Amino acid sequence: MSKKFDLIVIGGGSGGIAHARRAAEYGANVAVIEYGPLGGTCVNVGCVPKKVMWYTASHMYHLEQAANYGFDVTVNGHDWAAVKQRRDAYVKRLNGIYEANLDNSGVTYVAGAASFVDSHTLAVGGGQYIAERIVIATGGRPAVPAIPGAELGITSDGFFELEDRPGRVLVAGSGYIAVELAGVLHGLGSDVQVVVRKDAIIREFDTMLGEQLMEAMEKDGIEIETRVVPAAVEKTPDGLVLTADDGRSFGPVDCILWAIGRSPNTAGLALEKGGVTMDERGFIPTDKYQQTNVEHIFALGDVTGRAALTPVAIAAGRRLADRQYGGMDGRHLEYDLIPTVIFSHPPIGTVGLSESNARAEFGDSVKVYTTGFTPMYYALGDKKQRSVMKLITAGDDEKIVGCHVIGDGADEMLQGFAVAIRMGATKADFDDTIAIHPTNAEEFVTMR
Ligand SMILES: Cc1cc2nc3c(=O)[nH]c(=O)nc-3n(C[C@H](O)[C@H](O)[C@H](O)COP(=O)(O)OP(=O)(O)OC[C@H]3O[C@@H](n4cnc5c(N)ncnc54)[C@H](O)[C@@H]3O)c2cc1C
Repeated sequence: MSKKFDLIVIGGGSGGIAHARRAAEYGANVAVIEYGPLGGTCVNVGCVPKKVMWYTASHMYHLEQAANYGFDVTVNGHDWAAVKQRRDAYVKRLNGIYEANLDNSGVTYVAGAASFVDSHTLAVGGGQYIAERIVIATGGRPAVPAIPGAELGITSDGFFELEDRPGRVLVAGSGYIAVELAGVLHGLGSDVQVVVRKDAIIREFDTMLGEQLMEAMEKDGIEIETRVVPAAVEKTPDGLVLTADDGRSFGPVDCILWAIGRSPNTAGLALEKGGVTMDERGFIPTDKYQQTNVEHIFALGDVTGRAALTPVAIAAGRRLADRQYGGMDGRHLEYDLIPTVIFSHPPIGTVGLSESNARAEFGDSVKVYTTGFTPMYYALGDKKQRSVMKLITAGDDEKIVGCHVIGDGADEMLQGFAVAIRMGATKADFDDTIAIHPTNAEEFVTMR
């Protein structure tokens, strides 16, 4: 027997749950189908456990400074397993809260894997579910290179399963997940080497950020090797060894962590039966209203291959519900000016265009302001972890089109600036704003 709904959402992650609950609040009869734990990537193997580990490692970085502030602290070790246990318990609590929230919003939760039968019908286990509209919010999973021995390595999913801290780690990848996990492992005492395919890390952001982060990581003792294209992994008596396509070898190490990108979860959906097309990489393209090539089927979040971030998936989901069930005609998510943070050590905050993209878009009308300084926090000791900031403006009125920072506090600094920039703030608005002293953030309003 089949069950009928106004709306079925495939995927109970950030975007799917946000969309389903908002639609149900407007009175739609909604089901969410999820084959894993509720909350998706963010809650289970993404932002949440990652941030817990970032906080964990940050303690080590602060403990290094304790003596400068008069504390006689001896660190006798770190209990990784104990943190994991508490972290897992926290994630489990969140899974329960997500389930309760679905229930409170009147959303039906179907546990299982969904696949299309036709464009209105989904199969889950032995049952069939029919809906007027279907939303695909199935997210993605970590990619693994197609090379011999790749299975000897782990991915970010495997990182969160580690019961103990590996002593020697090789991280393959240059994106934000690679640098974040490298920073965590190094902070907690692992010997970390990072291998990247090209010459730089976090290449999708302003080059200043990647250059500064690379310098900071190397100063901290993380080795970064560039132009490494992995060709094979072998298990030797001393550990895992990665060979590059140019013959160089790296290791032996106890753990190889692949952080080379993410692939969409579309393979098992039988999208062809629903008539939904994918691009060559398996992502589902949509128009600005999240609509796929099929009028009543929508896609949002990581599976669309755009700005893979939790708040983006949530915002797209809520706006889609506002438009379809809340009477807000034309409501949709604009994908520009998305602020984001990289939880590296030190952290990075960024919003708007990189300098090169700004120059490509606005040409000679672009002006760039930068400042670099050592925060007062480091005044009493030998370590001097610099902060660097960059403001990019365009046009005669010097409208801010890019705002980038690396340094302590960057993670909490940019949210407010992102509001101002979204409202069209100019350099003069920044200059006219009174600084908050003494802080690192004040440098943003005192740049000349
Ligand atoms: C290590 C890591 C760190 C991250 N850190 C951050 C961060 O700090 N900040 C940030 O904003 N973002 C971060 N992200 C990205 C963020 O987690 C994702 O952008 C976000 O979870 C995307 O939400 P989504 O709803 O598109 O997909 P997901 O949250 O992945 O949800 C998709 C759900 O669909 C389910 N599913 C898939 N196929 C089916 C099927 N056939 N049937 C039923 N269910 C199915 C999956 O089990 C999953 O639960 C991080 C990601 C990773 C991997």
